[in-house]
Amino acid sequence: MSTKRRASFNILIVGAGLGGLGAAICLARKGHRVTVLESAAQLNEVGAGIQIPPNSTRILDSYGLRSKFCEKVVWPKNINFRRYATGAHIGSTPLHPTMTETYGHPYWLIHRADYQKLLYDAAKEAGANIVLGAIVDYVDEQLPAVILVDGRKFQADLVIGADGIRSRTRRAVIPEKEIEANDSSNCAYRATVPASVMNSDDEIKHLMTDINANCWIGHQRHIMAYPIRQGAMYNMVLSHPGKAAVGQWNEPGNLEEMKAHYANFDPVIQKVLSKVSDCLKWKLADLPPLPKWVSKSGKVVLIGDAAHAMVPYLAQGAATAIEDGAALGECLDRASSKRDIPRVLRAFETIRKPRCERIQAGARENGYIWHMPDGKEQQERDRVMMMEGQSKEGEDSRSNPNQWSDEEFQPWLFGHDVYTYTNDMLDVILKVRPNL
Ligand SMILES: Cc1cc2nc3c(=O)[nH]c(=O)nc-3n(C[C@H](O)[C@H](O)[C@H](O)COP(=O)(O)OP(=O)(O)OC[C@H]3O[C@@H](n4cnc5c(N)ncnc54)[C@H](O)[C@@H]3O)c2cc1C
Repeated sequence: MSTKRRASFNILIVGAGLGGLGAAICLARKGHRVTVLESAAQLNEVGAGIQIPPNSTRILDSYGLRSKFCEKVVWPKNINFRRYATGAHIGSTPLHPTMTETYGHPYWLIHRADYQKLLYDAAKEAGANIVLGAIVDYVDEQLPAVILVDGRKFQADLVIGADGIRSRTRRAVIPEKEIEANDSSNCAYRATVPASVMNSDDEIKHLMTDINANCWIGHQRHIMAYPIRQGAMYNMVLSHPGKAAVGQWNEPGNLEEMKAHYANFDPVIQKVLSKVSDCLKWKLADLPPLPKWVSKSGKVVLIGDAAHAMVPYLAQGAATAIEDGAALGECLDRASSKRDIPRVLRAFETIRKPRCERIQAGARENGYIWHMPDGKEQQERDRVMMMEGQSKEGEDSRSNPNQWSDEEFQPWLFGHDVYTYTNDMLDVILKVRPNL
């Protein structure tokens, strides 16, 4: 397989979420003919915030999108962990400017709809054809082809399933069994409060000027909150035990029920909750590690939540989906004809699966760490978190319960250079496993 000539393929992407659009930008920029099939009739990200950590800002930067993102994002100074009942500070990880200084790329906060729109515009500009209102019924993995519920059929050299936790494409990759999402026992409410409302209350206006991501952690519950839209609104994700439909992003939540869940939380965040006029509710779920991400023919591959949906406690689901798109681009660079596609997609799976599954597990573990009941274990967690940067000789400073600050995990997570890593791995895999 030559590494010199870059072939141009006809590629179908199912799903115009953050993962599908990220892949579309990368692949269209590399000269592939990309069509994205999205079931929604219009862009549908909800009105809530999302964190963009440095492992993904590195990639957005490489797509030339920094200045456009800078018009929309917020640069948080720290992520702070707080005692749920009092707001007392337990631990912190410096984000801006530390992340840029350490990893060369920033940590941003953004409104989801802005994120999706920026990626959508960039994908179009790069030449991708995005078809909205295209509801995929099934994927024929042999041809490969995608068949819509209205009967339209699209054929391609390869199909990328970026259709989320309830992926249809996954059935073509793993036809032998129905993959069920793991229901975490928790749901999340999403809510925002306009800056004008926040700023008119002396007890909470500091949250709009002292720019941080704040996370109040308590038994079975936490609230992650930060300003978005360059300070135009305050955003909250509130996680608690409950029920909602998996993969449904727009189920309306009940405000009184929401406030009741957090009635014993810090008066400051309760004051913010008192200003919320509506909220959305959804189920927090993840996938078990899948047996494979590539179909039998080697022509259909899963990325993003379709492959490795994770609970949001590490803020990495979209970031890893963006990484997937960039890694896929590098892998396809090694295919000089259609015949090579199965081999490079299997190499993609070999490279990406261990990383994404480690992050998935880390996110699950964070749920355990954050949601401890009050007691000895929680006190020990808080003690170790508070000691950050001052560990004594003999104490294991690497296992920080604040995974954002963990000495080993942080550079592995945020410092990941998807381009170098993927190419180094490809050099090895394609050489030592010629029959992959
Ligand atoms: C509460 C919460 C907070 C989070 N916070 C963060 C964070 O701070 N940082 C972070 O990186 N991640 C975060 N995540 C995770 C992140 O939102 C997801 O991992 C990411 O959005 C997944 O993107 P995706 O494109 O893979 O899937 P999705 O966003 O699910 O997109 C799938 C797309 O496919 C389309 N589709 C589905 N079925 C079909 C079909 N049959 N035909 C055609 N189209 C179809 C859908 O309409 C959708 O547009 C959070 C998640 C939650 C729940």
